[in-house]
Amino acid sequence: MHTGNNQVRVRFAPSPTGYLHVGGLRTALFNYLFARKHGGTFILRIEDTDQKRSIPGALENLITTLTRTGLQHDEGPDVGGDYGPYIQSERMDIYKTYIQQLLDSGKAYYCFCDEERLNRIREEMRKRKRPPMYDGKCIGLSKDEIADNLDRGRPFVIRLRYPKEGKTVFDDVVRNKVAIDNSIVDDQVLIKSDGFPTYHFASVVDDHLMKITHIIRGEEWLSSVPKHIFLYESFGWEVPVFVHLPLLLNADRSKLSKRQGDVSVESYLEKGYLTEALLNFIALLGWHSADDREIYSLRELEEAFSLERINKAGAVFDLEKLNWMGGTYIRQLDVAYIADQSRRFFEEAGIDISDSDKYLKVIGTARDYVYCLSMIVEHARMFYDTMTFSEEDHDLLGQEGSKRVLSYMIEALGGQETWSPDDVSALVKKAIGDLGTKGKNFYFPVRLALFGSCHGPDIPTLIGIFGRDEAVKRLSDALHLKQ
Ligand code: GLU
Repeated sequence: MHTGNNQVRVRFAPSPTGYLHVGGLRTALFNYLFARKHGGTFILRIEDTDQKRSIPGALENLITTLTRTGLQHDEGPDVGGDYGPYIQSERMDIYKTYIQQLLDSGKAYYCFCDEERLNRIREEMRKRKRPPMYDGKCIGLSKDEIADNLDRGRPFVIRLRYPKEGKTVFDDVVRNKVAIDNSIVDDQVLIKSDGFPTYHFASVVDDHLMKITHIIRGEEWLSSVPKHIFLYESFGWEVPVFVHLPLLLNADRSKLSKRQGDVSVESYLEKGYLTEALLNFIALLGWHSADDREIYSLRELEEAFSLERINKAGAVFDLEKLNWMGGTYIRQLDVAYIADQSRRFFEEAGIDISDSDKYLKVIGTARDYVYCLSMIVEHARMFYDTMTFSEEDHDLLGQEGSKRVLSYMIEALGGQETWSPDDVSALVKKAIGDLGTKGKNFYFPVRLALFGSCHGPDIPTLIGIFGRDEAVKRLSDALHLKQ
């Protein structure tokens, strides 16, 4: 257990696989919140030692996405820091030094077994219903045999010499005491045949050298802790505090996967989910506040967050809840901010929003109907497009009653230059009285003429957005529609 009273230092250590998984964002967020809460340091470290999985551009994409969410790291490949490099493939010399120490102390050993043999022993283990593990054959190689194999250029890996007796018992902040049988812990490969370290080796070395105090990461790493502890102890290093976050689940409680929907943070941002909503939603995946409050800004989370309130049980990624939260934020945040964030969707749709007064009013209304900003154009388009009417619309607008309503409104609106919402409400009331129509026979044609749909915002809102002249023009166009 880490006992020093050092400053909190935590890290988010993704492998750059091309996109940021929502589970990765949850890990980043919890690390970030813990660092902020304790005035600590939040580090971004790139774990790219699996060369087969490295994708060009993935690192830049990852940093851009993290930055967009507002989880700014204090140290990392792009911002620097005293403990760099922060990209593992640039730390190869460091791993070489430390693996040599393990070889010298007998905690690690060369293994020259080829793929064929490894497959064969795995298959045998499987048949005997045992976890597939290396059988330790190369532990017994003499110094001379090793030197000879190396001289002949035989491919090798370096393995951890993990003791198979007893149990490893350790503390985890979320899971409390965890005990794992050492007999099921494999002699983990530390250095692969391509010379690169595995995740297990590189992350332990780096966590130590980067003075990481708390390791906050997904539960899938819990079973690796005994190997990591053995490494720390072999080097004589202090073991950090472990915090394993509960699994993320689909609605059917299976492990969250791509197959059941979007798991990339980028795809949510592209659709115009607000980062505020996304972070708030993600914060509640495995953490809850003392009073079960749901809506938190990032600043408020920085205050409220604590490791003690992380749950053990898997957390369901409930899209309906995310959408609810998305809508809540879109309606609550400053309308000018929402308008600004929505701009790109209007540009993509080729809608001219240069009348900023009108644009703000449109957003003020359209935001009532959406949970992400890509949807807003759909609800705002009618304020910009020239109307096109269906056959059914033509029928309604062609009725005598509708024509009377439209004529009345055109005339009445013409009598006054500017109309406040209250003026329009009063006019609507008066019109219904004067015309002796039922509400629906008034609202439907007027709304259809102004907005292209019988349903939608109320008439004072619509006229408020268009202004008198545009409203009169739309009503007249509908009145004079060619049947
Ligand atoms: N590179 C690992 C991953 O992407 C990090 C695990 C850890 O935080 O230790 O999941």
